[in-house]
Amino acid sequence: MEPIKTDIVVIGAGPGGYTAAFYAADLGKKVIMIERDKQLGGVCLNRGCIPSKALLNVAHTISLARESGHRGVVFQPPTIDTGKLRAWKDAVVQKLSGGVAALAKARGVQVIQGRGHFEDSETLRVETEEGQQFIKYEKAIIATGSKAAMPKAFDLGNPRVMTSTGALEVEEIPANLLVVGGGYIGMELGTLYAALGSKVVMVEALESILLGVDADLVRPVVAYAKKNFKELRLKAKVSVMATSGKQIKVKMEHEGKQAEELYDRVLVAVGRVPNADDLGLENTKVERDEKGFIKVNNQQQTADEMIYAIGDIAGGILLAHKAFREARNAVEVIVGESTAPAKFVIPAVVFTDPEVAWCGLTELEAKEQGIEVQVAKFPWGASGRALTFDRTDGLTKLIIEPGTERILGVGIVGVGAGELIAECVVAVEMGATAKDLALSVHPHPTLSETIMEAAEVFYGHATHTM
Ligand code: FAD
Repeated sequence: MEPIKTDIVVIGAGPGGYTAAFYAADLGKKVIMIERDKQLGGVCLNRGCIPSKALLNVAHTISLARESGHRGVVFQPPTIDTGKLRAWKDAVVQKLSGGVAALAKARGVQVIQGRGHFEDSETLRVETEEGQQFIKYEKAIIATGSKAAMPKAFDLGNPRVMTSTGALEVEEIPANLLVVGGGYIGMELGTLYAALGSKVVMVEALESILLGVDADLVRPVVAYAKKNFKELRLKAKVSVMATSGKQIKVKMEHEGKQAEELYDRVLVAVGRVPNADDLGLENTKVERDEKGFIKVNNQQQTADEMIYAIGDIAGGILLAHKAFREARNAVEVIVGESTAPAKFVIPAVVFTDPEVAWCGLTELEAKEQGIEVQVAKFPWGASGRALTFDRTDGLTKLIIEPGTERILGVGIVGVGAGELIAECVVAVEMGATAKDLALSVHPHPTLSETIMEAAEVFYGHATHTM
């Protein structure tokens, strides 16, 4: 069969891939997008951001009802129909995935369902159900993403040992769930299952959950876990798992003692690995780092001038909005609109209860890098809006450059922190000062006032705190 010729081929239809494909088509390029899955949208839409947030919203509703007693409103304990819950979550995913397919069609982006494999730097072979298809391109953008790591010692081929993908299927609500890994995925899914009624034991090998996040932002999340999980074990290590009837037997070391425990299900959330192994990269000049992620420069170019890489496969922060941004960068470099190095503020949100969000420089990074900063904190106990939410377990803090008073970073923990951080991203991106935040009138009563008041704290005259 004659190879198809195109300007740009994009491999992978996740947030990185479809954004790149759509933007390139909008700028007049002929684009082909290759996706091995039946549904477009990648991990984020099908097995990540969207289904997890849909389910976490249900968890939040349950928690709100549970915590309402002292306000004089008592609900019956919830009855949960996992079939209906799953169907609703799947409907949300289907709607968005169908939307991506419709947007591709409307733009004239050709979608080929199949697995992409480089023959050489200018040719991609696609294995489809109908056979092989070859594509000759001007430029290729790799956006093949990542998958959950599953250590060999845990890989029993037993669906009761789940990754995030299995956990999001909510096949049942296990009476006892072990979550291995206290990163953001383990914490979010632990929060979900605890709200649904599982007794959750979380083990983290390191000295803290959400390692790398400022300790004062993590503290309220630890408090939540201590109250709502059966147990939170730090510096604990799971070594081996085995199937034991309908349960999973787990060997664990904690506080110098070895233990064997039985769980109904285990969620392994110990990191992500790149989808790069079967791409035929050895037939190109593309280079990978020691963890297998594709090496790129600040314009998303790989070591092969014909090939770009974006999103999770290009390493760094594995978040969908990083993929969205890198997709646009890569396309702009390809069409020659922008060759300036792009450095953006990439926010991060952990959708636990309470949420944690930050952007720009963290206090921890400032300390590690020896950067002198001033920190202004506004505790949510002094926020009227936080009191009306009955959630004063929050904190907003600004990391400020001495002298210039520029906002270098912001950290927020509290309900809705993920929504609040967007204003702070704009502030950091635009080089706003603490004065800009202090003088901008924020609506009352809202949690956004905590950002303005943290800036007022910096100047020593916050209205609602001393
Ligand atoms: P992916 O979304 O991984 O898409 C890659 C696509 O490439 C896939 O569809 C795959 O099938 C396809 N592919 C791979 N190899 C080939 C091949 N050889 N040929 C053809 N197709 C191929 N991020 C956030 O920003 N916010 C969140 O709240 C959030 N929550 C998450 C929750 C969970 C449980 C998980 C697991 C992740 C979450 N993430 C979140 C991370 C987010 O999902 C990823 O950062 C994002 O999906 C990366 O996008 P991508 O386009 O790089 O790759």
